[in-house]
Amino acid sequence: MAWETIKKSQHDLRVTPNLEDYDHTCADFSWDAVRRALDGLPAGAGLNIAHEAVDRYVAGPLSGRLALRFLSKRGETRDFTYRQLGSETSRFANVLRRLGVAKGERVFVLAGRIPELYIAALGTLKNGSVFCPLFSAFGPAPIRQRIAIGDGRVLVTTAALYRRKVEQLRSVLPGLRHVLLAGSSDEIRGLPGTLDYRLLMDEAEDRFVIPPTDPEDLALLHFTSGTTGTPKGAMHVHQAVVAHHATASYALDFHPEDVFWCTADPGWVTGTSYGIIAPLTHGITSVIDEAEFDAERWYSILQNQRVTIWYTAPTAVRMMMKAGTDIIRGYDLRRLRFIASVGEPLNPEAVVWGREAFGLPIHDNWWQTETGGIMIANYPAMDIRPGSMGRPLPGIEAAIVRHRPDKSVEPMDEPGTQGELALRPGWPSMFRGYLNEEERYRKCFNSGWYLTGDLATRDADGYFWFVGRADDVIKSSGHLIGPFEVESVLLEHPAVAEAGVIGKPDPVAGEVVKAFVALKPAYAPGEELRLDLLGFARKRLGAVVAPKEIDFVAGVPKTRSGKIMRRLLKARELGLPEGDTSTLESE
Ligand code: ATP
Ligand code: MG
Repeated sequence: MAWETIKKSQHDLRVTPNLEDYDHTCADFSWDAVRRALDGLPAGAGLNIAHEAVDRYVAGPLSGRLALRFLSKRGETRDFTYRQLGSETSRFANVLRRLGVAKGERVFVLAGRIPELYIAALGTLKNGSVFCPLFSAFGPAPIRQRIAIGDGRVLVTTAALYRRKVEQLRSVLPGLRHVLLAGSSDEIRGLPGTLDYRLLMDEAEDRFVIPPTDPEDLALLHFTSGTTGTPKGAMHVHQAVVAHHATASYALDFHPEDVFWCTADPGWVTGTSYGIIAPLTHGITSVIDEAEFDAERWYSILQNQRVTIWYTAPTAVRMMMKAGTDIIRGYDLRRLRFIASVGEPLNPEAVVWGREAFGLPIHDNWWQTETGGIMIANYPAMDIRPGSMGRPLPGIEAAIVRHRPDKSVEPMDEPGTQGELALRPGWPSMFRGYLNEEERYRKCFNSGWYLTGDLATRDADGYFWFVGRADDVIKSSGHLIGPFEVESVLLEHPAVAEAGVIGKPDPVAGEVVKAFVALKPAYAPGEELRLDLLGFARKRLGAVVAPKEIDFVAGVPKTRSGKIMRRLLKARELGLPEGDTSTLESE
């Protein structure tokens, strides 16, 4: 599809972007320089994420600045300045120390987006222990699986979640020594084998000296989204903070006065790298909403919290498009100056819709749990080609590689050639392994490249275009078809709210394209609409790429982080086992 490039001019920018000139910034960039712009622990004791995020601001002029503002489901607000966050996270580190939790040991948190989650995350890092977040919506099985794989020593959760999901697991998780419950003491009393988070925190000192931390010490354990199979536990080290800091500066354009809202839950890597760490290392204010998506609520947060930078996901954008642009008119969103999106391909339609709805295009960026930070992005100062992920971050070398018959890989320089997206290893937030899966980790590297498992192309100007996950790509009559291309076209039809596309085995073509479509509220499924959609897609995509079959569905299955689970659509279509559904959002 040919979408017009969105040209940026000086007029579109309200502040001077951190990345003004792409080529210059890339040429001058070095990770060492970013590392030097951070503090490091006092007296050369190394590099610790929590020091860069919190402690370095506590003694300085920003100590009284609002660091985190929590909006609860019930409408209460809880604020933490950098100084208060410093004290609370030190208390938590002291709690761990008192419980005998050692450096490198794993601290899990199973909670919604409440202050205790963020305090435990940063306090864990102060103590040199490893933080591992879990989605609060997980059932007992995925919780058990992850704590067992991660050898969790401590779990922080709430009394309600404990009763419903964790109590029954205690006998099968012998390594889980301490369970800390947040909430009122009344709720917690009578739950044997647990500790009262608030009591322990009240008893703890609010000062803590971070022990020496090697930049290569383990800091974070993040499970992948499970879109293509069983989630993998990606391990990250303290110096990942160098990448969190630099990438946020370029791809999210943080400036000192910004109010940032990252809608991702920390159970997904975005909610930790950019929902906790990066805004704090920049000394800005983050808004955190405990509630789930609701269009009106979101617009009022953007307005009332005076959000300037907003980082969200395509699935949320699609839901907002479904709710329509009329409701936006009732809100004053003039403070908003930059919108970015990650997690899935952002349909060109959505980029352009952002411009209509907010007066701002939506900037897509690409990364993975494994990369720890944004790798390819659309920047505030750069023209956007709707549907493209943008260009690699300064310090990141990306290529499209092909697999040679001898099993090695080589970059293909010819613009427009489709191949696997690969990155040159060496950036600070690169994962250091999949927990307990050494062989799988090793297989991600070949001929000096990290292979991402995603297929893409690069155009002559260096913009990268997502084609599909290698696992999802459809092979039909000798053509390789990325589901995203087909889904994007279906989304251009006024009736379509969501679309998921798979390859269905076919004796003649190998596979044929089949689409599952959810409609906008004003439309009803029917034969006429089906034919209209088939014709609409065929006209735009041609006979080979257009879907041959379309089914109407109430919604397409998605992960908790909002990614379409095409493998599930396929398994259901073919009557095959559904596989790991631990990250499936309830349907
Ligand atoms: P699993 O590896 O368990 O199957 P996952 O790959 O979905 O799950 P994440 O690490 O959360 O887990 O997601 C990274 C993937 O999400 C990328 O490899 C890519 O397929 C997709 N993705 C992320 N951002 C974008 C984007 N901007 N455009 C297209 N795809 C994206
Ligand atoms: Mg993946």
